[in-house]
Amino acid sequence: MADDDADLPAVADWLAAATHVTALTGAGISTESGIPDYRGPQGVWRRDPDAERRATITAWTSDPEVRRSAWQQRSASDAFDAAPNAGHLALARLEDLGALHSIVTQNVDGLHQRAGSSPDRVIEIHGTMHRVACLHCAWEQPTTATLERVRAGEPDPMCPDCGGLIKAATISFGQALVVPDIERAEREAARSGVFLAIGTSLAVFPVALLPGIALDAGARLVIVNAEPTPYDDRADVVLRGGIGGILPRLADLLASTRA
Ligand code: NAD
Repeated sequence: MADDDADLPAVADWLAAATHVTALTGAGISTESGIPDYRGPQGVWRRDPDAERRATITAWTSDPEVRRSAWQQRSASDAFDAAPNAGHLALARLEDLGALHSIVTQNVDGLHQRAGSSPDRVIEIHGTMHRVACLHCAWEQPTTATLERVRAGEPDPMCPDCGGLIKAATISFGQALVVPDIERAEREAARSGVFLAIGTSLAVFPVALLPGIALDAGARLVIVNAEPTPYDDRADVVLRGGIGGILPRLADLLASTRA
């Protein structure tokens, strides 16, 4: 066992005993699939100062150049080909073992579902990059179809139904969350015996309130993250290290207790 594995048997016992377990995942669970996070050491915001602005709704709606460069970048991006990694697969395995009941994810990459987590147990609190929606009417389509339009010569594609602005079906900074989704996430946190916070800096609100909701309701809090978070002092266990190593070892331990 690695040094930071000393706490894993206790965590496996808590998962085995809990009647409800929720995982909150952030961009850190997908870095090992080649999708950079925002705030980690290799994060997009440390490398590209304009990235935060591009992710705000007012920049998207007011600046055609922001939209053009974002569509251009996406049409050349390999994020759409990314595959789930060992961390995503371990969470799907925990679900199969009856030790994970819901995933609240800040990620928009769809990798939990691709790893085998049940789609109806995954709450995509910040939407999905795999669909594009009109900001004015009900039109939407798969992102791949919009990227084909960009490659075919439409640098700033508009809604084919109403002519309005379109955008990935993600929640940009400054955009309201989907209320039923955040309410469902809060209910999942409040009913949890164990709450896992995985690969998230816990810096984006209101999602960052979820560990506190779980703790106040009596849950154990387990943090899996390479860097400190504001909740480390309140956590029962902090597992510091690479997610793709830690979560499979946790799933193995749990499986061995069930064997
Ligand atoms: P964040 O970028 O704020 O923090 C990620 C955290 O994960 C960091 O603390 C980093 O140290 C840690 N981390 C990175 N790789 C790790 C690894 N392999 N093992 C252990 N820890 C690792 O991410 P956030 O809290 O999710 O917030 C960023 C926002 O950006 C979210 O709202 C999300 O919607 C969006 N986002 C999504 C994606 C995606 O869908 N994959 C990618 C980038 C950003």
